[in-house]
Amino acid sequence: MFSFERYSRQIEILGIEGQERLAKASVLVVGAGGLGSAVIQYLASAGIGRLGIVDGDIVEDSNLQRQTIHAGNIGMNKAESAGAFVKKLNPDVAVDIYPFDLTPKNVIGLLRGYDVIVGCPDSFKVRYILNDACFLLKKPFVHSAVYAFEGELSTFHGSPCYRCYLPKMPPATGKAIIGAVAGVFGCLQALETIKLITGYGDILKGRILRLDASTMSFFEFNLQKRKECPLCNGELKGIFEENYIGDCEIVRLK
Ligand SMILES: [Zn+2]
Repeated sequence: MFSFERYSRQIEILGIEGQERLAKASVLVVGAGGLGSAVIQYLASAGIGRLGIVDGDIVEDSNLQRQTIHAGNIGMNKAESAGAFVKKLNPDVAVDIYPFDLTPKNVIGLLRGYDVIVGCPDSFKVRYILNDACFLLKKPFVHSAVYAFEGELSTFHGSPCYRCYLPKMPPATGKAIIGAVAGVFGCLQALETIKLITGYGDILKGRILRLDASTMSFFEFNLQKRKECPLCNGELKGIFEENYIGDCEIVRLK
């Protein structure tokens, strides 16, 4: 049983039932970097029952400009460091640490045990692997990507999927980022997750939200199922490494 006092401010909105749903839910956060730091912080504080954290990277000096949960942990694995943060913030939360990278080989096994998957990777490759595996496993996939002063957000659950939006990888952007932009989008991902679990409000399904924080312009557009999407058409039958090399276009279906 959770502490009523700890969660009283949100129980006013979500009700005891909503809080119970959070306490019973499991969420896998893939990437404990700029986005993941905010996601992990707000999901842990909201009282998610079980948080899985996947990250094979080591905390470096240049991370702390935005990855605030890793304060004091330079040299430590990011999943371990994030896990230590969660334990300190909220001992109610059970944490599963996966101190390695997500790959086409391990993705199905990793995702299977969780209700919601939050994608916070720093590469397109992992985003495509997550999209495809979530679609095949029928799990909701809360997506965000940030660059410089910009970011985008969407929640995929069935069709349309991330490949309907970007059938193959666009040119890589780079690593420049204003820390607070990653924080904003990580918080939005945490919000989408809380709504998915509690059923409160509407999620951003079939819509992409974009922000250009340099002019503070939010805009969004609807996403349609793409007629040739091999995933939404049910043609892709598994996760195959060949689909995640080069521009991540689907080349093998079964
Ligand atoms: Zn699709």
